[in-house]
Amino acid sequence: MVVSEPQSQPATGALQTAFAQFDSAADRLGLDDNMRVVLRKCKRELAVHFPVQMDDGVTRVFSGYRVQHNLARGPAKGGLRYSPDVSLDEVRALAMWMTWKSAVVNIPYGGAKGGVIVNPKLLSEREIEKLTRRYATEISIIIGPNQDIPAPDMGTDGRIMAWIMDTISMHRGYTEAGTVTGKPVSVGGTLGRAEATGRGLLYIIQETAKRYGVAVEGATVAVQGFGKVGAIAAQLLQRAGARIVAVSDSAGAAYNERGLDIEALMPFREDRIPLAQAQGCDHITNAELLSLPVDFLVPAAIEGQLHAGNANDVRARFIVEGANGPTTPEADAIFAEKRIALIPDILANAGGVIVSYFEWVQDLQFYFWEEDEVNERLHRVITRAFSDVVAMADQHNARLRDAAMMLGVNRVVEATRLRGIYP
Ligand code: NAD
Repeated sequence: MVVSEPQSQPATGALQTAFAQFDSAADRLGLDDNMRVVLRKCKRELAVHFPVQMDDGVTRVFSGYRVQHNLARGPAKGGLRYSPDVSLDEVRALAMWMTWKSAVVNIPYGGAKGGVIVNPKLLSEREIEKLTRRYATEISIIIGPNQDIPAPDMGTDGRIMAWIMDTISMHRGYTEAGTVTGKPVSVGGTLGRAEATGRGLLYIIQETAKRYGVAVEGATVAVQGFGKVGAIAAQLLQRAGARIVAVSDSAGAAYNERGLDIEALMPFREDRIPLAQAQGCDHITNAELLSLPVDFLVPAAIEGQLHAGNANDVRARFIVEGANGPTTPEADAIFAEKRIALIPDILANAGGVIVSYFEWVQDLQFYFWEEDEVNERLHRVITRAFSDVVAMADQHNARLRDAAMMLGVNRVVEATRLRGIYP
């Protein structure tokens, strides 16, 4: 079923933020109205409602989405989220950000995102597998290596990607590894993908430190969200000599002014054990974590965490967005006033999509790389993107968010014009 909403429906939450960021970049680029209406809309939106028989014999109907925002630069690409808070507007916003992100780091993808409205913590592994296979079947009409390639996001992981790959392969009658990325290495995944988003954050923080003349070694860091992104970023930053003073999950944060032992906290990641049970540290709230006087604040949980109501409390020197859309436009304006440098999501957390691209290339060629080759190429692509964004910021006297958006949007505009579909 293709969903088409009335034009008058107002955007909510993350989509409002995505629109405000796009409009600001479009204004600075002087985009005409024809191009704006095209780029503000998502190209394809599939809503699916599908039954799953639960372990107790009861049948429940789940709802999910797959949204492709733009395909001008290549096949659609973007994660798949399992969360009770998934909504069509949220998926649209996340799909738009994927379009700009792929363009900022200059990989040949458009943007997409998917989600199922479910709390995976409340389901058994068998139920999650059934749900995943059914959802994959429902969206199989629009995904595939040449069309749209999902990957893990909040609440999903490599195991779930393997089930999706297997389901699509069963339908096609042959193994189609390139249909999803973020798979385990033994079924066509790439070395380095599980760490890629966190590693990309490390490289971006190292570049930021160089640009602003500060050292990563000894720098203090607070990380909101101790999942696939936040936990790995904390681990790699600690190995690089930074002092991680706080990390959090949805229920609260572990805090130690002298620095947490992140290796000891790794069993708590991705909500396997609540951080509230961690010992040898103090416990603070997420709100307290966001207002710690640290060098680097890394929001790596969900959207809208830094907003008009708490932005004035932020005392970090740099904000590096591990999550997608953690900052509202109102908070952005406050950070600009407070002269807090902010490295935007579409650049800072692009390590994941970059290494997903490498995984897809390896799957299509049936030729796999060594881990150091993956990391070295990730470093090259993400540091080049950082330089491109900084050059744009310097040229236009723009904040890094606007500069990254201008770079990404402009590349999509160029592809759209060259394809000749719009003026
Ligand atoms: P995850 O499910 O592995 O981890 C999410 C973490 O955030 C968990 O620790 C959870 O407890 C915590 N969390 C959830 N709600 C919270 C709240 N209200 N306050 C504090 N913490 C909260 O998810 P992930 O894959 O690490 O994704 C995190 C963010 O990074 C998302 O915005 C996602 O879109 C973005 N992202 C992920 C990737 C990737 O490769 N996984 C790539 C780019 C961006």
